Amino acid sequence: MGDNQQPTVVVTGASSGVGLYAAKALAAKGWHVIMACRNLEKAAQAARDVGISPENYTIMPLDLASLSSVRNFVTLFRESGRSLNALVCNAAVYLPLLKEPQWTEDGYELSVATNHLGHFLLCYLMLDDLKQSPAADKRLIILGTVTANRKELGGKIPIPAPPDLGELQGFEAGFKAPIAMINGKPFKSGKAYKDSKLCNMLTARELHRRFHDSTNIVFSSLYPGCVADTPLFRNHYSLFRTIFPWFQKNITGGYVSQELAGERVAAVVADPEFKQSGVHWSWGNRQQKGRNAFVQELSAEGSDDAKARRLWDLSAKLVGVE
Ligand code: NAP
Repeated sequence: MGDNQQPTVVVTGASSGVGLYAAKALAAKGWHVIMACRNLEKAAQAARDVGISPENYTIMPLDLASLSSVRNFVTLFRESGRSLNALVCNAAVYLPLLKEPQWTEDGYELSVATNHLGHFLLCYLMLDDLKQSPAADKRLIILGTVTANRKELGGKIPIPAPPDLGELQGFEAGFKAPIAMINGKPFKSGKAYKDSKLCNMLTARELHRRFHDSTNIVFSSLYPGCVADTPLFRNHYSLFRTIFPWFQKNITGGYVSQELAGERVAAVVADPEFKQSGVHWSWGNRQQKGRNAFVQELSAEGSDDAKARRLWDLSAKLVGVE
């Protein structure tokens, strides 16, 4: 384990893709990274593969699809004696080809449970760790995405099966089988991912509204660009996995490497120019060399403060911290 004077960041899903390269970039900036992962051997191999120095990271078990695992992770983190400078909610599953929902041990639809509810509980619990940390600069960062934010595309490009939380009827009704969607409508696997990412961005805004003034913690979300060749797309058609990166590189110009996406996340965690709270960062959808970040407006639903409050209350109930 590394030097306790190093600032400490927890990164969920640091065993591949954006999270792994964010861990690498943060370690290079002198941080100690707690790689919060469900597959410890895979995480260890991944850290070795990208060359993170062993003294700069600790791997701890976290399965976001299990509320008890989230609680156990927080206990384990506290036992490490480290104080927390930043939390990055990065892990996600994307299961676009599922015809029927999969359910977690807690009885919730897998994508929303992993991407939103597990992270919601983690944020809720680790808020205490951030509050208690003596650091002056503390941040909680959540990964959003373009397909859950029509504003990013200027509202002009149609998003297939766009996110829509409705009146949160599914959450209101307890979100247990057969209810698999937040709006209570029939299951659509790709939409479940987009709904969960919309929840991620709404959660960052609501954290800011509730806690920024009293704690000075910086809460923000970001879209790191289209990282078209991460394992996120492993459950898609193999033809899609071939064509999508090519399309993003050669047609839209939206392609971002995993390394660059990781560096962007690390900048939002550590760099002074990202100390604004309550905002969503983006580098846009057309990549150019040296492109700077800007504050990206969210869609009408992503900026709906009443919905964010209700989402908070219902999520708290579902994860048992009401
Ligand atoms: P990825 O390579 O598939 O990484 C996802 C990570 O989440 C992996 O480490 C995975 O662990 C972990 N994970 C999945 N389920 C988990 C669970 N139940 N408990 C703990 N960890 C779990 O995907 P990525 O593209 O880097 O995505 C990272 C984030 O970026 C996501 O929030 C995604 O929405 C966002 N994002 C991605 C893109 C893109 O184009 N790729 C664009 C915008 C935003 P395993 O290694 O064990 O599977």
